[in-house]
Parts: sequence; structure tokens; C-alpha cells
Amino acid sequence: MRSGAKSAFGGAKQKKFKVEIIKKSKEDFKLEPNLKDYEKTYKTWDWKKAEKALTWFKDHKINAAYNAIDRHDQTDRKNKVALYWIGADGTKKQFTFWEMKNLSNQFANVLKKHGAERGERVFLFLPRIPELYYSFLGILKTGAIAGTMFQAFGPEGARDRLENSQARFLVTDSELVERIYKIKKDLPHLEKIFLTDVKPGQKLKPGEIDLQKEMVKASVEFEPAKMDPEDYAFMLYTSGTTGKPKGVMHRHLAILQEHFTAKWVLDVHNEDIYWCTADPGWVTGIAYGILGVWSIGASSVVFEGRFDPATWYKILQDYEVTVWYTAPTAIRMLAKAGTDLVKKYDLSHLRYMCSVGEPLNPEPIKWGEKAFGLPFHDNWWQTETGGICIANYPTMDIKLGSMGKPIPGVEAEIIDNKGKVLGPNKEGNLALKPGWPSQMKAIWRRPKKFKSYFMKGLACHERGAERRVEWYISGDRVYKDKDGYFWFIGRADDVIKTAGERVGPFEVESALIDSGKVTEAGVIGKPDPERGEIIKAFCVLKPGLKPSEKLKNEISEYVKKHLAGHAYPKEIEFAKSLPKTRSGKIMRRVLKAKELGLPIGDVSTLEEY
Ligand code: ATP
Ligand code: MG
Repeated sequence: MRSGAKSAFGGAKQKKFKVEIIKKSKEDFKLEPNLKDYEKTYKTWDWKKAEKALTWFKDHKINAAYNAIDRHDQTDRKNKVALYWIGADGTKKQFTFWEMKNLSNQFANVLKKHGAERGERVFLFLPRIPELYYSFLGILKTGAIAGTMFQAFGPEGARDRLENSQARFLVTDSELVERIYKIKKDLPHLEKIFLTDVKPGQKLKPGEIDLQKEMVKASVEFEPAKMDPEDYAFMLYTSGTTGKPKGVMHRHLAILQEHFTAKWVLDVHNEDIYWCTADPGWVTGIAYGILGVWSIGASSVVFEGRFDPATWYKILQDYEVTVWYTAPTAIRMLAKAGTDLVKKYDLSHLRYMCSVGEPLNPEPIKWGEKAFGLPFHDNWWQTETGGICIANYPTMDIKLGSMGKPIPGVEAEIIDNKGKVLGPNKEGNLALKPGWPSQMKAIWRRPKKFKSYFMKGLACHERGAERRVEWYISGDRVYKDKDGYFWFIGRADDVIKTAGERVGPFEVESALIDSGKVTEAGVIGKPDPERGEIIKAFCVLKPGLKPSEKLKNEISEYVKKHLAGHAYPKEIEFAKSLPKTRSGKIMRRVLKAKELGLPIGDVSTLEEY
């Protein structure tokens, strides 16, 4: 069911779009949702009490990998499939929880044998192959810190990360290792390289180790390190959308929030077949492709290959995937491939779909309903937050274009630049009250940068009085409507100031896509002597449409009609594709730098386009 309501960001002056609402009702659910009553849970949630959902060692010690895998070994999940793996060439493999436990134990033994110690960095530079998954878990079991690098990184991207983290160990394959040799001289800390695919008779270079040979010799018994919940478990570099990627440190306790949000937000149940399309080179692939999902004991699908609509649908069909977690760029590309293609597959098992990573425009949500009979549920979080913080939940009505509401146990507000909490419909900084379990512990070797995320402020009016609190500042500009839904406006650096008004790129992009002519849009502010900035839009046209001045005018008119006069793009440029991070986020800073003829800055995560 659907109904309309007026949105009011920036006053009705700016936004004339009607907010569409997808109403939820009991009949929508094939399985009773894990989070039955959002409001009630939100009011009463206590993370300390929730800790009992995890398995703890003596003296309040923990290990996230033990919680993801080993603890199922003592239950009837022992022989349940944890990982359904599909290779890029179509090879299929599967691993039970028991097998994952053994493999990660063997890897942990190999690592120990080669001298890995607690707290040191062990990096993974691998395609999405089983070795990546069990090695990650094995590293955590030893008490070392796991770091992941997306397989598409070139030598520079790899150097930045290995140099900054001072990793002593690296697990990679014979193809990717060639990129490492190009930069090896800059990596004095890197001592040992485990190769996953050594061929019989292959001569190893100094420092190289045949991982499979070592695995065969290693015991399947391993006593996981008893970690303090605060101890580092893994580190991840941010996507580099706004600048140089930051090395974000996460603790073992992060799994607590990842466990509960996988339940509440992704609605993963024990019996689900779940597919998270994110690569473990990014935080989603770790928090929800490994830790969150397996801590619940659900089966997870991993596809090594590249994005391809028909292949993706076949996987959804063949593995009878029930819960699917993906990203806006993928959804927009699937939409571009058309609804007819979807209809060729039996996707009747699919019962729940979520999206993260970028703002999800209303149009792809509507397309999801048309194509799959289900809406995509958007949720918001960051590498730094370590877990989902704001979300649409199964039982909550969706306001199309909104990120939803804060998860139980997370207090989120909109604050101004002085730290004062703003009321409904006011644009400001999205801020979180520090203390959620998966909150980052540090930025590696950048304490000043870490500190810069936090600010003191006056907050929450309690019976008229203001209390002093500390805020975590996300860097995103957002507003909250009167029903408590959060709406993304843009990253702080991307908000456009035109003729004295502030315009969020997201709503202009959504309007452009809504015109029906455009599949993807990136909007920037271009300096203008008169207006401060004008809005410039880069648009990828729908297949079959030819660029023309007439089309530009039509698109422009559409936006003008639906947004306030000042919010329409004065300039439109058609593009074949948009610059994106390798995790699929539109890099507006690259569009802007190119437009202004300025240096592009760090491009280690830029995808070729
Ligand atoms: P960097 O910090 O290096 O510039 P990044 O911010 O893109 O890169 P991530 O931590 O991967 O790195 O992404 C988090 C950001 O992604 C958020 O701050 C937000 O801007 C955007 N984002 C994630 N999910 C959503 C969402 N549902 N709606 C809107 N924006 C989102
Ligand atoms: Mg960021």
C-alpha cells in the first residue's frame, strides 16, 4: 500500500516532492520479523544486557571469530552449510560451520608457526575465494589484527595500506602478488607472503610461503586467543570518496552490534540463505558478509565473479536466496538491465532486500517492488561506525528516500556546527552519541584525525535543561522529519550553496532519475560569481536515449517542476559513466575537480571509468 505525505526539508520552499510511503502490514512477512516492535525495543535496549547473546570466555574475554563460527560447532548447526561459494568460472563449493572452524584453526596455526603475534597486522589481498574467509577468521583467532584490501587495488592503493598499517604478513595469490613486487621496496615491514595458489614445482621467492602446503601440515585444533572486548580485531580503510582513505580500527566487541543489526535490520534468521554482495575489502563485506551473519548461524552465499545481472539472478534463483543485501549502484544497474530479465528467474524464495553504501533514491525502491514484488530497505552507516546505525526495519513503513530511524542502542541527532541539537526538518550534521559497540577505536597512526570526529556540544533538552554531551560527527548532512525519520542530504563537502540557499545533491539526483530519462546522476556545485555556486549535473542516460539539447531541456524542466526553482541544475552534461569508488560510490569530488581543472587528489579507490 502506498500513500503520500509532504516532505519539508528547507521549508516547503525547497522541496515540492511528495513523500511516498510504503505501508507495512503483517501479511508482508513470510517469517515473523526478528524485531517485532521497534519503538518498544528502542526505549528499553541495553547493550550490556545484550552481551549475553554472545559466547564469552572466563573473565569477560571474547573472540569475534569464535562467536561467528566455533560456537555453532557445539550445536545442531555443526554440519550446516556456513558458506556456499561460487567461483568466477562457475565452480561450486560449500563449507559447513565445522569445516570453517577447522580451516580457520589451521590457518591460525600456520600464522602462529610463522611468528604472528597479538596486535600485529596481517593483511589479505585476495579475490572472494574461500581462503579469504577462513584466513580472516584465523587471524582474529590468533589475536592479530586482520586487514583487507579489495582485489582491484593497484600497486599504489596496496602500498598506502600496507605502508600505513606496517603489516608484517600478507596473504595473496600469484597474480596479485605481482602488484606487491612493484612496491615491495617501500614496505620494509612486510616479511612473509603466503600464496594461496602455488603450483607443483613452482619456485618460491624469498619470503614467500606455500599456504596450502602449510595448511595440510597444520592441526585443526586451535585455542582462540582470549581477547579483551576492547582489543583490536580488524582494520579497514574507508572508501576514499572524500579524500585519503583512513585506517579504521575495530574491536572484538563490534560483533555484538553486527549480530543484532543483522537480526533487526537485515532480518536474518537461522534458516535464511543470505547473500551480501559486498567484498570484504569494505566494511560491509566483513560486518555483514562474515561476522554478523555467521554469528546468527545463517548460511551465506559468496560469488567470486563480477557484477552481471543475469548471473546475479541465477544465483538468487539457484541458491534460493531469502535475504539479499546489496548497494544502490548495483540496484540501479539491475534496473537498467530491465524488469523482463528478472521475470525469467524463479526468485520466489526471496523475502527481504536491503541496501547500503550510498543514498538510495526512491526510483530504485519502486523498481524493486515492480521487479521482485519487494522493496529495498535502505540503511546508513560508515566504516567508522562498524555496524548499521540508522535503518528501515521490516515492520516499519518506508518513506521512500529516507534512511529510516536509529537502531536500538544508538542515539542520533542533527546538530549545528556548534554542537546544538536542531529540531525537526532542519538541515545539520548527523551526529551520534558515542558508545555504541561497533564504534571505531582509533584511526591507525592518526590520533589527531581520530579526535577530529568528536566534538563537545549542548544536547538533548531534558525538562528544559540542556546537558553537555560529546558527539561523534559523521560528516554527513541530514535532517530528521517530525516522525523521527532521517533523510540524507549529502556529504558535508558536497552540499551546494546557490543564491543563498543550501541544496543537497541527493535530492537533485533523485529528481533527475525520477525524470525517467536518467539512470545515474552526480550533482556538484560549480563556482559562479553571481550565485556563489550553480548546480551542475552529470547524467548517464537510459539505454536507447541519444544526448541532445532538447533532452537536456526536458530533464531540466522536469527537475524545475518538482524541486524549487533554485534547486534545478543550470548545467547538464551527459556522461557515459560516472567516476566511482571501487565499492561503487559516486565520487563527486572527482567530477568537481575535473570541472574546475583542479588536481583530483587521492584516487587509490577510483574505479576506471
Ligand atoms: P571516505 O570516508 O574515505 O571519504 P566513505 O565515506 O565513502 O569514504 P565509507 O565509510 O565506506 O567511506 O562510507 C560511508 C559513507 O557512505 C557515509 O558517510 C555516507 O556518506 C555514505 N552512505 C552510506 N550509506 C548510506 C545511505 N544509506 N544513505 C546515504 N549515504 C550513505
Ligand atoms: Mg567517510
